[in-house]
Amino acid sequence: MSDSKSGDDNTLSVTPKKTLTLKRPGSEQGTVRQNFSHGRTKQVVVETKKRKFSMPGDKHEPTPTAQTVFAPKPQPAAPAPAAPVAPVAAAPVAPTPVAAAPAPRPAPTPAPAPVAKEAPRPAPRQPERSGMVLNSLSRSEMDARRRALEGSVAREQEDRARAAEDARRRAEEDERRRKEREDSARRQAEEEARLKTEAESRRRAEDEARRRAPAAALEANVPDEVEAKPKGRVGPGAATASPIRRVATPEIARPAKTKTEDDRRRGKLTLNTALSSADGDARSRSLSAMRRRQEKFKRAMHQETREKIVREVILPETITIQELAQRMSERAVEVVKFFMKQGQMLKPGDVIDADTAELVAGEFGHTVRRVAESDIEEGLFDIADHSTTLVSRPPVVTIMGHVDHGKTSLLDAIRNANVVSGEAGGITQHIGAYQVEKNGQKITFIDTPGHAAFTAMRARGAQATDIAILVVAADDSVMPQTIESISHAKAAGVPIIVAINKIDKPSANAQKVRTELLRHEVFVESMGGEVLDVEVSAKNGTNLDKLLEAILLQAEVLDLKANPDRTAEGVVIEAKLDKGRGPVATVLVQTGTLLPGDILVAGDQWGRVRALVDDRGNRLEEAPPSMPVEILGLQGTPQAGDRFAVVNNEARAREITEYRQRLARDKAVAKHATQRGSLEQMMSQLQSSGLKEFPLIIKGDVQGSVEAIIAALDKLGTDEVRARIVHSGAGAITESDVTLAETSGAAIIGFNVRANAQARHAAEQQGIEIRYYNIIYSLVDDIKDAMSGLLSPERRETFIGNAEILEVFNITKTGKVAGCRVTEGKVERGAGVRLIRDNVVIHEGTLKTLKRFKDEVSEVPVGQECGMAFQNYEDMRQGDIIECFRVEMITRRL
Ligand code: GDP
Repeated sequence: MSDSKSGDDNTLSVTPKKTLTLKRPGSEQGTVRQNFSHGRTKQVVVETKKRKFSMPGDKHEPTPTAQTVFAPKPQPAAPAPAAPVAPVAAAPVAPTPVAAAPAPRPAPTPAPAPVAKEAPRPAPRQPERSGMVLNSLSRSEMDARRRALEGSVAREQEDRARAAEDARRRAEEDERRRKEREDSARRQAEEEARLKTEAESRRRAEDEARRRAPAAALEANVPDEVEAKPKGRVGPGAATASPIRRVATPEIARPAKTKTEDDRRRGKLTLNTALSSADGDARSRSLSAMRRRQEKFKRAMHQETREKIVREVILPETITIQELAQRMSERAVEVVKFFMKQGQMLKPGDVIDADTAELVAGEFGHTVRRVAESDIEEGLFDIADHSTTLVSRPPVVTIMGHVDHGKTSLLDAIRNANVVSGEAGGITQHIGAYQVEKNGQKITFIDTPGHAAFTAMRARGAQATDIAILVVAADDSVMPQTIESISHAKAAGVPIIVAINKIDKPSANAQKVRTELLRHEVFVESMGGEVLDVEVSAKNGTNLDKLLEAILLQAEVLDLKANPDRTAEGVVIEAKLDKGRGPVATVLVQTGTLLPGDILVAGDQWGRVRALVDDRGNRLEEAPPSMPVEILGLQGTPQAGDRFAVVNNEARAREITEYRQRLARDKAVAKHATQRGSLEQMMSQLQSSGLKEFPLIIKGDVQGSVEAIIAALDKLGTDEVRARIVHSGAGAITESDVTLAETSGAAIIGFNVRANAQARHAAEQQGIEIRYYNIIYSLVDDIKDAMSGLLSPERRETFIGNAEILEVFNITKTGKVAGCRVTEGKVERGAGVRLIRDNVVIHEGTLKTLKRFKDEVSEVPVGQECGMAFQNYEDMRQGDIIECFRVEMITRRL
């Protein structure tokens, strides 16, 4: 039997090769033709493994170990099949019997006997793997060879194991391995089955052969095998089984080993395990990932449950988006999103009205209940008193009149002449109101003169005044503000007492005053009316008693009453922040009695009354109706004109003030929003109306005067220009006012207040003007002038003359010049000109030249001819008219 080997080249490939579909990466395949006795041949696939690590000894003889003859057995993973495979491969080849081979022995590699017969085994040692080897070897040669082969087989096994391990160490892809294993397992099962039958038949055939020709046995290789048996490691009886088993052993073992190795390797972190191990994923999930998952889950649960809850949302008149979201138990973001979808960009802090809120709540699936927050205030004011509880109270008097008619003088005179008994000589202080006593009866004067303040108070719904004293200077008679005062008093339904002042003056004419008052429907007694009038002199103190008597008389008519035995109610006359005492407010008790320790609500402020102080600085135990009193202990400064009321407890006070503060804030926001609007609104407003604003910061001694100033300035506003009060307040001008003025470009007005040193310094540095006033009207006049400056001057055009173009000359260097005759008026150089063609203005501009003959002239009178050229315009034609006009800018005033 001889084998002939084909090279690794593909050209020699034969059919069996095609059957072997799987190719090991580290091996090369070839085919070997085996010649058997009896002329049979067969072709066997030979796979040459490339060794990764060659042993020193193997260096030059790679074949014995590396070269394995796998018959049809295609893959290394295949276990036992190694030997049995041979016949399979042989099968297809068998039909071409070339060499004589008595037994159908294949060429199972590892089996010592077959290997012995496997001529090519040693062949690899030869440099060239050439074909046929003669079969006629001597016995000794055979022995030597067998031994060598045996050794080589052993080595081969070892090496193969090592090689396999090397290969494995190369970390073949798991995927492929698995596939291989699967394939091999399948094949193994198939082949094992096949093997069994084949081995059976082979054994029978061999037995047969042995029995039949013992002599020929030598030649037929079988005796070799028999002889070899004792040397073999296999049990004696298992002659045929042995090669199978031997070959099989490493093959079978391999998958098993692979498995254990795989298991072992799993512990180690290799690139493969890290990348491909599916188990690794589970292990690598971090704690935070778990937590996130849990949170997500929780959130999902939460959302689900939340959606189910339909709430009744209580909606006040206005509500912030944040608050609405809270009441709906939704996230504010969701509400904002909802608005976005509607095309409105809102923030959680934005205030929306109840209607919008209701819409939103409905959209979110909630029901709403609308409430008016003003319900909070219910029962705070105007608690009706039973008539039996009412007792007389002093009248409250306000003094009104034109500027400089002596209001302040009169108030001071009365006060000084009629201090409350026993208090004479006390240091008076300005608290905005005071009380005098006349004939045992008290009269309360509100010390904030001017109808503006009076009106401001009224605007807040505080009707503090019972009687208005109209001061008219006898030497000046009725003036504009006198008339205003009259209308204010009448509007308020307050009876008037006319005080004709400055009666001491020689130019005084009381009668004139009375007559003039008639014109304004103030009928004094002496003129047949009902209005009391008293001629007084504030300067000399003349008839002050009479005035007071008149007041008392009037009060009697009014029959003023109040219930002193109840919680106090009233109005704030003035409020300021005192450096040493904190917020201080002068209040006028209108009904009930105010006591120290009372908790009162005034406007959007509240406080527990710490002390009651009168206008002379005395602490009072109580303040009965019509008593003006300064109170300490408020949390903040209320506004002049705010109504106050005593409440039962702090909680209620807080509730009311919080509501009022919210209301004030919302109002401010709304005002701000309407003032500012969107940017586009602002732009269009500026473009269309050209409205100019005059920003101002106003600081006054008391809130009342500040209010009066603001009201007066408001009236100044026109469509074109208006005062914008950036900030206003009572108290000195501070550094922050200056800063505000700087940022807003405002001017600072101080009314009866001064700037502190720092503010003064800052204003000087930043070039901000601070103006001080002590008379509202001069302040208003000044502002009026300033605002007039903002009015764009009026453009007034005057026609000068017309000229007709008789001819147009084209003159080098100068360009086109129109030869004209002045037909009307005159033509002036420097004046504006229009080119009119068929009564249509073609061009408007100025003249470049105006020539009379060769000379430049300043004007050309009617009837004369002249040459005219336009500045930057040349399209003039014969017959065109040139109109000449003058433009004047006229300054306007408010
Ligand atoms: P108001 O602006 O209405 O408060 O007027 P004032 O009280 O400030 O007075 C304006 C001016 O008139 C001051 O110079 C006073 O001195 C003067 N005046 C006020 N009352 C009298 C008066 O009865 N007789 C005279 N001769 N002058 C008076």
